[in-house]
Amino acid sequence: MKSSHSTDDPRRDVDGPNARELWKRSERVLPGGGIFLTRSAEFAGRGVLPGFIDSGEGCRVTDADGHSYIDFLCANGPILLGYRHPEVEEVARAQAAVCDSASLYPSALIEFAEFITDRTPGMDWAITAKNGSDVVALACRAARSATGRSKIIQFVNAYHGFAPELVPFGGGVPAEHRASVVRVPWNDAEGLARAAEEHGKDLAAIVLNPIDQNPFHDTVDPDAGFVAAIDDVRKRTGARVVFDDVRHGFRIHPGGSQVAVGIQPDFICLGKGLGNGHAISVLLGSDDMREGTRRLMFTATFCFGMVSMRAAQKTVEIYDRDRIFETMSRSGRRLGEGIVAAAAKTGHRISWTGPAAMPTLRFVGDDDLAIGKRWSTEAARRGAIFHPCLNWFLNGAHDDDAIDEAVEIATAAFEATPLPEARDNQDA
Ligand code: PMP
Repeated sequence: MKSSHSTDDPRRDVDGPNARELWKRSERVLPGGGIFLTRSAEFAGRGVLPGFIDSGEGCRVTDADGHSYIDFLCANGPILLGYRHPEVEEVARAQAAVCDSASLYPSALIEFAEFITDRTPGMDWAITAKNGSDVVALACRAARSATGRSKIIQFVNAYHGFAPELVPFGGGVPAEHRASVVRVPWNDAEGLARAAEEHGKDLAAIVLNPIDQNPFHDTVDPDAGFVAAIDDVRKRTGARVVFDDVRHGFRIHPGGSQVAVGIQPDFICLGKGLGNGHAISVLLGSDDMREGTRRLMFTATFCFGMVSMRAAQKTVEIYDRDRIFETMSRSGRRLGEGIVAAAAKTGHRISWTGPAAMPTLRFVGDDDLAIGKRWSTEAARRGAIFHPCLNWFLNGAHDDDAIDEAVEIATAAFEATPLPEARDNQDA
């Protein structure tokens, strides 16, 4: 059954009257009327995607003006099974009815830590927190504590959260923080070896994502030589490997993205999809990282919230039971085949990269994103959220009907988007 949005007027503005009013009010109460957040429609360009989303169900969301969309952002990753999955919401409600945060450890903490470490080979202990940024920063500190060293290697453009030293750009970061992180280009095995040579004695950790998937770029897998170089550096220098699976966890390999990459890390950071929208992240570590980690000062008021722990355990149980990885990947392939064919038919040149459940679409030569934004706007007007500069996410509720409808919308959006030559002629 098609939802009401298919009858939307494709000429309408993406933001309706309610959203326009909310944007106006945001000028007063948000810094600059917005914040640099990839979760903000500002990141896509205001008016390209709906500014305000008020509810979600399965694979669809509804904006502040009541327009419904098939959603390929999934709250930037957290929605793994589908919005408001009934079984997850049931355990969350049951826990919320008795207690969420309590004075001391909840027993749910031990149950969750047992569950998640048993499920992740090589990981022996867990620390729960709320955001991905919390656990990546904690892992870096634990690696420094374990090694007694200070430098971190990360890869150019990679995002690992908002810890001042790790954030790749933006203001408010003291130079000394930046200086503690060495940035090496992705897939540059020689550059990595050189950095290790230069900083080896002071190298605490290498922090990496499973793939190079960053805004405004095609997605690039790690090549075998690069993975071998990471392993070589860790052996030669004693640097620890921090695997940031916050965004990609559950969507590259059901056993964790480290399995797909072929690396056994010292630390794994999970967040986003873990709680199907409930706020939880977890740092996992190996036995020989216990001592260094014990010495850390770490406390956070809400890191023992029981509702999110129960929700996360249920989410992962359902993910395994219902083989959600296979569903998301199959749907992602169906979407990709449909969109690539529609682009070719309408004369648009696109690149389609990334894992099936986390694709990246870019228009070839669209350096100023003018075509991508126009296409995303045309799709949003017709009822689908396709981000013009971030990777997309599939969830377990994207079924064949939703995908076919999304491909129809994408096709109409391609038809409504002028080809670059037409645009150039218009400009002339
Ligand atoms: N690591 C990666 C790879 C991420 O994509 C993100 C968030 N986009 C983070 C860490 C930080 O997570 P959070 O926003 O939950 O703090």
